[in-house]
Amino acid sequence: ETVSEELTAAIRTIVDYPKPGILFRDITTLLGNARAFRRAVDALVQPWAGSKVDQVAGIEARGFILGGAVAHQLSSGFVPIRKKGKLPHDTVRIAYSLEYGIDEMEMHKDAIRPGDKVILVDDLIATGGTAEAATKLLQQMGAEVVSACFIVDLPDLGGRARLEALGVPVRTLVDFP
Ligand code: 5GP
Repeated sequence: ETVSEELTAAIRTIVDYPKPGILFRDITTLLGNARAFRRAVDALVQPWAGSKVDQVAGIEARGFILGGAVAHQLSSGFVPIRKKGKLPHDTVRIAYSLEYGIDEMEMHKDAIRPGDKVILVDDLIATGGTAEAATKLLQQMGAEVVSACFIVDLPDLGGRARLEALGVPVRTLVDFP
């Protein structure tokens, strides 16, 4: 069984969540499966083993769980990218579009030093709008975003190309067409 097959089997699909017509890929079952969780984190960090990554940036909230584990494996720092209003110190903020309306995400101004090599982590990339906004925020602060990593890609939604257009290589482990 390949890593991709094992991880695919560990992800649960919820029909009509959060809205009718949506197939939600629920990774809590993967997180709760000790072997699958370890294999997912190991596979995400594998290209970076032994190289210096300054910070791992995780997108709230599932990106915190994976990003924390990835940062620990790489002996790098962790930077939370949060929904607006949650971080206590001075922040930089970016607006991005959701399916309906817009939202804003932010991170602490002093979280990144210019030239830092940063890996961006989230659980899943769909349209890429969320990760694109996070990448722009990091790049504005002078980060070199060396990779964006996700367990799941929904390739039909085109997210990968949006990050590649910003010069960021994308790594994903499982496709749900
Ligand atoms: P995007 O901005 O790429 O369209 O959507 C990705 C964001 O929405 C990620 O933060 C991801 O956690 C969340 N998301 C969208 N669809 C799903 C899904 O089916 N499963 C999970 N776990 N997250 C999703």
